[in-house]
Amino acid sequence: MIRRLRLTPCPFLVRQPTELVISGPVGWLMRKMGWAGFTVPVPFVGTVILYWRDEPRGYEEFWSRPHPSERYHELVHAQQIAKHGALWYVTTWLYDTAVLGYNSPFHRIESPAREATEAAEMQGWPEWV
Ligand SMILES: [Zn+2]
Repeated sequence: MIRRLRLTPCPFLVRQPTELVISGPVGWLMRKMGWAGFTVPVPFVGTVILYWRDEPRGYEEFWSRPHPSERYHELVHAQQIAKHGALWYVTTWLYDTAVLGYNSPFHRIESPAREATEAAEMQGWPEWV
């Protein structure tokens, strides 16, 4: 199941991303593989954020809103795309993930996103997230 979320706009983005929740077998599989969300630039559409979900029960109340740490992290990626461009984002993510590893502190995309998310959490999540 694919469902579009209509959440509070992110103040550090001029153009808001499309945010979708993917549940069902695909959401379950991605969650099992350890993914919470995924941000990808889509030609002619813009930045799309996918949140993977695996819980079919209580869907409306429990899964209609991503956890602030998930959303903030993905919105930082949307900001990276807006700042550096889709081509840089995709090629750098693929290269750094393949060469350095997803969790590397030198990953030029994941490391700053993790740091920004941790800093936001330390300060207390902003209301919009
Ligand atoms: Zn990330």
